[in-house]
Amino acid sequence: MASRGDFHTHSTASDGVKTPTELVDLAAGQGVVYHALTDHDSTEGIVEARRAAARHPGYTLIPGVEMGTDIAGAEVHMLGLYLYPEDPELQQALAKLREGRVGRGEGIVRKLREMHIMIEWERVQQIAGEASVGRPHIAQALVEAGYVSKVAEAFDKWIGRNGPAYVERDKMTPAESVQFIVQRGGLACIAHPADLPNLDALLPELKAAGMAAMEVYYKDYAPSVVQMLKQHADRNELLALGGSDYHGIFGNDEKLPGNIPLPDSSIERLLELAATLPNRQLAH
Ligand code: AMP
Ligand code: ZN
Ligand code: FE
Ligand code: FE
Repeated sequence: MASRGDFHTHSTASDGVKTPTELVDLAAGQGVVYHALTDHDSTEGIVEARRAAARHPGYTLIPGVEMGTDIAGAEVHMLGLYLYPEDPELQQALAKLREGRVGRGEGIVRKLREMHIMIEWERVQQIAGEASVGRPHIAQALVEAGYVSKVAEAFDKWIGRNGPAYVERDKMTPAESVQFIVQRGGLACIAHPADLPNLDALLPELKAAGMAAMEVYYKDYAPSVVQMLKQHADRNELLALGGSDYHGIFGNDEKLPGNIPLPDSSIERLLELAATLPNRQLAH
C-alpha cells in the first residue's frame, strides 16, 4: 500500500546511493508529497533536495537527520525532523559526529585487515565520497572485493553491532539526542524500534525527554509488528509515523519511497505538530 508520506530516506549525503535530486524525483514519482530526507548525522543533502523539490508542484520536502545513539547492548536511531541546515549549532554538532565516523570507519577496516580481510580504507573513502561515512560504505567495499555477495551479509558476518570487526564511536544517549533535536527546534521520532529491548521503559523515558513520535509503519514490518507498535504509540501518546528507510543498497526487494502503510491521519497530525515548532521561519 503506498502512502503520500515518507519520513525516513537516505541520499548520497550519507549511505544512500541516489543523489538528493534523484531521491526527490524518485519519491515524487512514487506519489510521495510529504518527504523527509534523513541522512545519518548530515543535512548536507538538503540544499540540493530543495532545489529538486521546487520542480515538483505540491511536493513538500521536510529537512531531517538520523542520529545513532546507544543504550546498553543495543543501538537506537533517532530521527530529527524539521532541522534546518542554516542552523550553525546544528552543523557544529553534526560535523563532530561525522568526524567520529571517520575514526570508527578506519578502526573497522583495521580490525578486518587483522582478520586477513584486506580491504583498503582509501577505497571506502572513495565509495563514500563527500558523504557522512558509514558501515554500508565498508560493506560495499567488501562486496566489491568479493568477500561477501551482498551488503547485509557483511553486517551478519563482521560489522554488525555484535560482529568481530565492530568498533564503537562517540554517540549521545537516546534521551540526549531527543533533547538536542528539541533544542534545535525539531521534532524527534524514534526509528525502527521493533527490535529494541524494553520499549515499555524506553518509550516513556524518551517521551518525557520531549520525543513526539515513533516509527510504526516502517519498511517491511509485518502487520502484527505494526499493530504492536501502534499500541505502544497510543499508550505513550506518541504520533505513529513511518518511512521506507530507502537507501538503494539492499537489492531488488528494497521498499521504494512511500511504499509503507502509513495512513493520511498520521501525516495530518504531523503537519499540525510541525506548525507549532519554533523553526518555521528557517524554512524557505
Ligand atoms: P552506521 O551509521 O555506520 O552505524 O551504519 C548504520 C547503517 O547500516 C544503517 O542505516 C543501515 O542502513 C545499515 N545497517 C545496520 N545494520 C544492518 C544490517 N544488519 N544489515 C544491513 N544493513 C544494516
Ligand atoms: Zn543508513
Ligand atoms: Fe536507522
Ligand atoms: Fe535510516
